[in-house]
Amino acid sequence: MTDRIVDFLRRRTEDGPCMVLDLDVVRDNYTSFAKALPDTRVFYAVKANPAPEVLDLLAKLGSCFDTASVVEIEQVLAAGATPERISFGNTIKKERDIARAHAYGVSLFAVDCEAEVEKVARAAPGAKVFCRILCDGSGAEWPLSRKFGCAPDMAGRVLEHAHRLGLVAYGLSFHVGSQQRNPRMWDGALAASAAIFKDLAERGIALQMVNLGGGFPTKYLKNVPAVRQYGKAIFEALRKHFGNRIPETIIEPGRGMVGNAGVIEAEVVLVSKKSDEDRMRWVYLDIGKFNGLAETMDEMIRYPIRTEFDGDATEPCIIAGPTCDSVDVLYEKEPYELPVSLAIGSKVLIEGTGAYTTTYSAVGFNGFPPLKSYVI
Ligand SMILES: *Cc1c(COP(=O)(O)O)cnc(C)c1O
Repeated sequence: MTDRIVDFLRRRTEDGPCMVLDLDVVRDNYTSFAKALPDTRVFYAVKANPAPEVLDLLAKLGSCFDTASVVEIEQVLAAGATPERISFGNTIKKERDIARAHAYGVSLFAVDCEAEVEKVARAAPGAKVFCRILCDGSGAEWPLSRKFGCAPDMAGRVLEHAHRLGLVAYGLSFHVGSQQRNPRMWDGALAASAAIFKDLAERGIALQMVNLGGGFPTKYLKNVPAVRQYGKAIFEALRKHFGNRIPETIIEPGRGMVGNAGVIEAEVVLVSKKSDEDRMRWVYLDIGKFNGLAETMDEMIRYPIRTEFDGDATEPCIIAGPTCDSVDVLYEKEPYELPVSLAIGSKVLIEGTGAYTTTYSAVGFNGFPPLKSYVI
């Protein structure tokens, strides 16, 4: 929470929940990544928050961009980044979208199977490809499942196929799971990467790059290590597995770049109990799973919530959103401590909400408008 955000909210007169994002925090985060990993290029994961002001700032600071669709590529180009600074990092692309990206000048593509390599070879001949490998997301609060990536022992074959089809077999990528609280989780994937580098070198293919993905955390209720500790652990793992032949590296922070730059202001719509004996209060906010807080799914992300009554006695509550969908409950399995004095009409501030909120908001479910966003 910055003074600029507090000032902005004090002056705001409009009704309804909103997310306010402070660009100064994004600038500090970019600088911290650049310092923590000085030889690594930063590709901001656009999906975390594609607000034009964020993309403009990062383009000016020299960031590159990880994109997942042609629309994201167009947003980044509009922010003034050249196509050499864009990676089409989604492993699931329509061939005509690859062709459109290629026509824009994008020449770096993610793949994780031979069929995707063939699409890239047809639609973007001569482009660079990196193969994503599966990585166990343990330790991450928002794990990324098996949807993307192939087994490490398949990656060599995928990249060899790319090489045969005239593409540049450029490197490997992985993602250790979003909100990864353990800086040592890069070690296993880097061991697997080094083995693939060696294997392909023996077959005459010199890979050049390891994409270390995202996963850098934002501080929610629990503390997280500083970016500098991630930089240190990653550098040590690179040394350990690649010796003095460390490849070119890139990172793709999303949450870690913008999460702590944003705050949501919301309002308490109702406080009630379900029966006379019920000890647990229900606190209903004007924001929920469908207008910005989708990451409370399975109570995975637990945002810090501040109120004007902080310091008063607290009581565990169930927190829910405003829609008529029964899944629109934010925290129930693990109830949330809120001040007893919190009442209908009170404002609450939900911190750490700069990433994965505005674009996760439904367009008009139940008549609730999409989450308003202000970038200051
Ligand atoms: C979403 C995504 C990221 C960003 O992940 P964070 O955990 O938010 O840092 C990075 N790379 C790829 C390929 C992604 O899909």
